[in-house]
Amino acid sequence: MELVKSLLILFSVSASVAGCFYLLSLPFFPVFGLATIFQIFVYNLFSNWRKQRAEIEFETIQNERIKEFSKQGIECICPDENCAAKTYVPIRLDLENKYECPKCKKSIKVYIGSKTFLETTPVSDDPFKNFNFVEGKDYDN
Ligand SMILES: [Zn+2]
Repeated sequence: MELVKSLLILFSVSASVAGCFYLLSLPFFPVFGLATIFQIFVYNLFSNWRKQRAEIEFETIQNERIKEFSKQGIECICPDENCAAKTYVPIRLDLENKYECPKCKKSIKVYIGSKTFLETTPVSDDPFKNFNFVEGKDYDN
């Protein structure tokens, strides 16, 4: 239905253009053909331009999303027991995370790990108490 409507508009515009030129004693059908081709050409240009604009918009949204993700961070506690200062550290999952403790000025690495439990397993204590983030498993006691 949309296509029929588009073709109808296309041909009636071409016909009116050709009609105007016909009044100037130019042949009807060659002008009609040219007007049709010209409209298709302009339509393609326009739709390409619109597609490109949509792609650029999509990329902008993606970039915004990536920026939002990079804003994530966690509260870290300095591993030096005499310091134990809490610091908010931005976290990137695709990079090694490091920061300098603002209190003792030591360089600290942050390991991000995950641990899985069956939904039915009760977890009351700190689930990472015996977890070795470097090896990704619990320490052997
Ligand atoms: Zn510290």
